[in-house]
Amino acid sequence: MCGIFGIYNHPEASKMTYLGLYALQHRGQESAGIASSDGKEIIPHVQMGLVADVFNIDNLSKLKGPMAIGHVRYSTAGVSQMKNAQPLVINYARGQISLAHNGNLVNASAWRQKLEKDGSIFQTTSDSEVVLHLIAKANGYPIEKAVHYSLAKLKGAYSLLIMTPDKMMAVRDPWGVRPLCLGKLGNSWIAASESCALDLVDATYVREVEPGEMVVIDKKGMRSVKLFNAKPKPSLCIFEYIYFSRPDSMVFGASVHSVRRELGRHLARESMPNIKQADIVISVPDSANSAAIGFSQASGLPYETGLIRNHYIGRTFIEPSQHIRDFGAKIKYNPVRDLLYGKRVVVVDDSIVRGTTSRKLVKMIRGAGAKEIHMVISAPPITDPCFYGIDTPTKEELIASTHSVDKIREYLGVNTLHYLSLKGLLSSAGSSTDKFCIACFSGKYKI
Ligand code: AMP
Repeated sequence: MCGIFGIYNHPEASKMTYLGLYALQHRGQESAGIASSDGKEIIPHVQMGLVADVFNIDNLSKLKGPMAIGHVRYSTAGVSQMKNAQPLVINYARGQISLAHNGNLVNASAWRQKLEKDGSIFQTTSDSEVVLHLIAKANGYPIEKAVHYSLAKLKGAYSLLIMTPDKMMAVRDPWGVRPLCLGKLGNSWIAASESCALDLVDATYVREVEPGEMVVIDKKGMRSVKLFNAKPKPSLCIFEYIYFSRPDSMVFGASVHSVRRELGRHLARESMPNIKQADIVISVPDSANSAAIGFSQASGLPYETGLIRNHYIGRTFIEPSQHIRDFGAKIKYNPVRDLLYGKRVVVVDDSIVRGTTSRKLVKMIRGAGAKEIHMVISAPPITDPCFYGIDTPTKEELIASTHSVDKIREYLGVNTLHYLSLKGLLSSAGSSTDKFCIACFSGKYKI
C-alpha cells in the first residue's frame, strides 16, 4: 500500500507535498520521499521512516522548484529496503524521469525477467521499476506515448504520478483499483491518493482521475488523455472503504465515513436478531469507529469508548526481556475497565485477517470484566489474499480460509460472532452491480 501526492505550479511545491504526505501517512509508514523539479532538474530526497522523521527544513529547502511528487510506502511487492523507497528517479536517454506508484502490478515479474534477459539492469526489487524500463524502451516516442506504450503492457493496480523536469502525469489503471483524485489550489493542480490530502493544503476537490485516464499537466495547462479504448470491468478496491482510506476522504466518489457508517447500520440489522440484548457498542479504534457509530444508530445501543489506542507507537518497540503477555496488542490498545465491567458488549471491528489481534482484544475485554462479548465485523470473512496492493498474508494464514464462522467464534472466545454479508457490503457501498473488486471475500480475481 502507498500514498501519493503531486503538485504542479506552486512556489512551495515540496512543502505542499510534505503536508500532503502527512495527510496520507496512514497509507504507508515504511518510507517517505519527495522529488521536486525546477523545470530543468529533478532533485529527490527519499528515506526510510515516517514523514515527520524523513523531512526537515534543511532537506526540504533543497527540494526547489514549482513542481513535486511524493510517496509514502507500505511494501507489498519488493522487500522493505531503502532502494525500494519512492519516488524512483532515473536518468535515461532523454534525461530524468521520476515515478510514484500505489498498487501492485500482477505481471511485473514476467516483464522484469524478459527485460533482464535483454540486458536491463534493475536498481530495485519493486514492481514499479518495470514501468520506467518500459518507458525508456519507447525512446522514439513523445513521453506521453511512451507512458502509454509502457502501461499497455502492464496489468494490475496502478495509480501513478510520473514527472519529467517540466511535466506531470497522473494515471489510473483501467480497472480503477486504487483511488486517485484531482484538486485545485489557485493556479496549481494537485493529484492525491485521497482527498484528505487536499483539505490540509486548502485545495478544492475537483474530481477523480478516471479509470484508464492520464491527466497531463504542463505549461499548456491540464488535459485528459484516454489511454485505453477497450473498457475493462471496473474493479474498485472495496477494502479502501472497509479499512484502508481515511474516513474524512472522498474515495471513488463517496465519503468513506458515510459508507462505513452504512456498513455498521447494515451489520446491526443483520446481527441484532442473533445478539438479542446488549448494553453498549464499542469499536476497535480507529478503523472501526464509523461503522460502530452506524451500528449504534441502527441498534439503539449506546456507543461508548471501550478501548483506547495509543497513537504514538512506531513500527518497532523494545520489549523487556521479562515476558509481558500479549505485549504487541497491549502496547497499542488498553480497555476502559470501569466502562466494560459487568456489561454485555458489542465489539465492532472492520475485518479479521489472521484473527490474532481480535483474540487478544477479546481476552483484554474479558479481563476488564465484560459479561458477554458479541463480535461484529463490518466486512465478510476474508478468505483470499490481495494481489493488487493490500497487505494480506497467504491464503493459509487467513483464518477464514480454513475455519468456519463458528470455529472462528470459538477461537476468539466470544459469545457470538457475526460478519457482514457480501450483499450488505455491496449495498452499503452503493452498488448492487459489480463495480468493486471483492476478490478477498470471493476468491474471484478480475485481473
Ligand atoms: P488480525 O489479527 O490479523 O485478524 O488483524 C485484524 C486487525 O487488523 C483489524 O483490526 C483490522 O483493522 C486490521 N487490518 C485489516 N487489514 C489490514 C492490513 N492490510 N494491514 C494492517 N492491518 C489490517
